[in-house]
Amino acid sequence: SVTVVGSVNEDVLVAVDRLPGRGETVVGRSVTRAPGGKGANQAAAAGLLGPGVHMVGRVGEDAAGDRQLAALAGSRVNVSRVHRTPGLPTGTATIPVEEGSGENLIVVAPGANEALSPADVDVEPVHRADVLLLQLEVPLETVQAAATAAGGTVVLTPAPPRALPDGLLSRVDVLVPNEHELVQLAGAAPGDRTPAELAALARGLGVRAVVVTLGARGALVVPSGDGPALLQEALAVDAVDTTGAGDCFTGALAQGLAGGADLAGAVRYAVAAAALSTTGPGARGALPGDDDVRAVLDR
Ligand code: ADP
Repeated sequence: SVTVVGSVNEDVLVAVDRLPGRGETVVGRSVTRAPGGKGANQAAAAGLLGPGVHMVGRVGEDAAGDRQLAALAGSRVNVSRVHRTPGLPTGTATIPVEEGSGENLIVVAPGANEALSPADVDVEPVHRADVLLLQLEVPLETVQAAATAAGGTVVLTPAPPRALPDGLLSRVDVLVPNEHELVQLAGAAPGDRTPAELAALARGLGVRAVVVTLGARGALVVPSGDGPALLQEALAVDAVDTTGAGDCFTGALAQGLAGGADLAGAVRYAVAAAALSTTGPGARGALPGDDDVRAVLDR
């Protein structure tokens, strides 16, 4: 089984001819609401790939909260631990998207996510899960408490990047940063790096194993111990929208590990699932099922 402790948001996407500058007003063309939040996106991806997925989180007592619970349940996620929070709105990400270029801006109002507490994560789905997925869109003390309470493999996506409390990384079994997040965590200068250079940064973090996602270049597996790093090439697809590819990757990685795969095997599965997820719009517009991923891996 897989449990996700993390954020549940509603994404409000506004199509604009061009992004506004500071102090400027632009008029949007259309508004689309989509389910979002890194935590909930990971849960939805895992739920569509296999059984036994629980989400632990908080939404408001509002219509957006209703929509997020329904979207998760529709992705076969157990939402009995997603609590309604009096007095706080469901988390919202407002995202103007420039037509043509696809460039965006993102403003997140965390709302009920900020109320997710250490007590909320001291629950059976956290204690019992084979794999626990964590990200950084809920309070750090709650992330820390969940990592401590976990009985199974702890996987952390260090996003959005922020300074981590002492001791958190030592409780993480697999860290899954993208390249930018790895560089930030390592306190290194931005810039292009070879896989060998990225592996050296990853090994310096003091986590057991690291999987660095590299967009269209695939993913770099840096195993625990002295084993060599391994680059798993991306699957070639006609990507139309890579939003949420990393969240699908992590949800699939969790299902692979929960199913008994070793880290390299779970990464092969995740690379295939994440590639398929880029072939449709939005973070959850093209999430694959297990059959879809297996069909690609068997080709
Ligand atoms: P994030 O969305 O968190 O920035 P990445 O961009 O690294 O993460 O993407 C996560 C994973 O999704 C990659 O490791 C890769 O497997 C897959 N992926 C992303 N973009 C593409 C693409 N254009 N083609 C195929 N696979 C992709």
